[in-house]
Amino acid sequence: MIDLHTHTTASDGTDSPTELINKALSAGIQTLAITDHDSTSGWNEAISALRPPMSLVLGAEISTLTLNGVSVHILGLLFDGQDRDLQAMLSDSRDTRIPRMRKMIELLAADGIPITMEDVIAVTPPGATVGRPHLADALVNKEVIASRDEAFIDLLHNGSKYYVTHAAPTPEDAISQIRKAGGVAVIAHPFASRRGEIISTTTFSSLVAAGLNGIEINHRDHSQIEREQLTEIADELHLIKTGSSDYHGNGKLNALGENLTDPIQWERLESLANERRVVSK
Ligand code: AMP
Ligand code: ZN
Ligand code: FE
Ligand code: FE
Repeated sequence: MIDLHTHTTASDGTDSPTELINKALSAGIQTLAITDHDSTSGWNEAISALRPPMSLVLGAEISTLTLNGVSVHILGLLFDGQDRDLQAMLSDSRDTRIPRMRKMIELLAADGIPITMEDVIAVTPPGATVGRPHLADALVNKEVIASRDEAFIDLLHNGSKYYVTHAAPTPEDAISQIRKAGGVAVIAHPFASRRGEIISTTTFSSLVAAGLNGIEINHRDHSQIEREQLTEIADELHLIKTGSSDYHGNGKLNALGENLTDPIQWERLESLANERRVVSK
């Protein structure tokens, strides 16, 4: 079982990297990727907790914005964690999330919803990439809303009047930085982040020109028809097809291993990194 997309307390997941590793071992996952939002800060703990027979793929999920303002998530896997340019890109992104969070809080507060930056900081694990799920947790604590899910439905979704974007690289920039750092780049849940838009092979070609290696197809946010459409696009563009859980601990319903990557696809993807970086003990 190969699961190439999971989150921990280094971003908006609720399990620490150690808990994630232990749960993935229990779930029988053989190859697990840790892909926190805009951060590699969970890597070292994950490496320490790793035990046979599982192998670990170090990665990150980079939030990007197209020039048209569409939010696109790019999974970077197997890159050199010491690469300065890539780490600078991630750290810029994390920095801009703080004023962005303040703006969302101001908009909510101006509408009479009692929430402060301190409330959000109180529920954000130290060092974690701050995101809307933490704001949701703070709203749950304040009994404004019952759950993360309800917070997103009512207040925090991308179309909400309280939604604010943060500065982010373009998907092409993120892909080329990941490749320059020796890693491989996979577009995460493309239809979930662009829902409602008509996506075509032409939309993907500029990502392919930037170095895109794969498309995450099997993901809970994609319908069967969407999976078929993405499979056609991947085949046409000779891209690798992945599947993954996008596990967030109890922050989301997604269960570890609920969607998986085929071993042959993984073998192809892994071979495209500039060094053999899969960690095993
Ligand atoms: P942000 O990066 O701050 O814009 O927040 C986006 C994150 O919110 C994504 O990683 C999603 O996993 C998470 N998210 C989106 N919808 C929901 C939901 N309904 N429940 C919990 N988390 C969600
Ligand atoms: Zn998330
Ligand atoms: Fe995502
Ligand atoms: Fe994710």
